[in-house]
Amino acid sequence: MNPIPERYARQARFHGIGTDGQTELMTKRVLVVGLGALGAAVTDQLVRAGVSLVIVDRDYVDVTNLQRQTLYTEQDADAKTPKAIAARDRLNSINGDINVEAHITDVSWDWLRELAPVDLVLDATDNVETRLLLNDFALHRGIPFLFASCVGAYGMNYTVLPSEAPCLRCLMRHLPLAGQTCATVGVLAPIVQHVASRQAIEALKYLTGRVEKLERRLLIEDVWENLSQRLDVERLVDGSCASCQTRSYPSLVSNRQQTAHLCGRDVVQVRKFIDGIENIAQRLERAEIDVRRTPFTVEWHWREHRMLLFIDGRILVHGVDDPGVAIAMVDECLGT
Ligand SMILES: [Zn+2]
Repeated sequence: MNPIPERYARQARFHGIGTDGQTELMTKRVLVVGLGALGAAVTDQLVRAGVSLVIVDRDYVDVTNLQRQTLYTEQDADAKTPKAIAARDRLNSINGDINVEAHITDVSWDWLRELAPVDLVLDATDNVETRLLLNDFALHRGIPFLFASCVGAYGMNYTVLPSEAPCLRCLMRHLPLAGQTCATVGVLAPIVQHVASRQAIEALKYLTGRVEKLERRLLIEDVWENLSQRLDVERLVDGSCASCQTRSYPSLVSNRQQTAHLCGRDVVQVRKFIDGIENIAQRLERAEIDVRRTPFTVEWHWREHRMLLFIDGRILVHGVDDPGVAIAMVDECLGT
């Protein structure tokens, strides 16, 4: 057997992992959806631990991210680099021995169904819809899903196991998930690191085969109010749950939504079929509109609104909150 690389010596020395566990870790591939604060923190830990990743995010780096999204720099914010690209480059520079597969996209069932096998799914998203999609995807594939959420100084963790109930859908009506976002009530970096670390340790336990060590309870923490709870949730199984009981997986549906609000911002995302961002850029230039191009995006202004087109056909329309207005503006400048 090949010796364990020296970089993992302290981790392999830990009794719970050992050389066998470390060898296992180096064969694993984990899907992390969302590369905001949580995604940045947990991918940093997993890559250092020797785990290969599939990382996905639909957004770009903004200056307001830098307070807590630890993979990114001022240069990334100035260049509006897609988070998936900035994260991949940073993670590769931390550990060149593992593989980081990066995708700039909005996760959907159409995208997930094509995904090559992964061992584990990590939630680092900011919305309920995507969490339920990941819950159903993981149950459908028979792999665990690590739910995590934080806002303000408050955070939650829960491990969804494919053969054990309840799942996240069962717990939804018991969780205080709706109404508050990082944009409306803020978020502190320490709770993010805290929740991400809990996710990372559960990932390490599962990926090394130590499932008996997994935390089965729902963890809730408020690091500002010094509150900490571990809740037994076994009795919260919803007997008619379409995800873990009847297994009809209601979130695994095609037909992506045409529009979506981005978390807590005055930004509407519009989907558009495009035949290459270069063609779009040229079309705008012919209309005498100034465009700014990167290999991944085209940016321009339309009546004081900033528009940002990604290579997968999503357009972020800034400064609006009405999806109908956003679609009309996109159609106006790009045609229908
Ligand atoms: Zn369920």
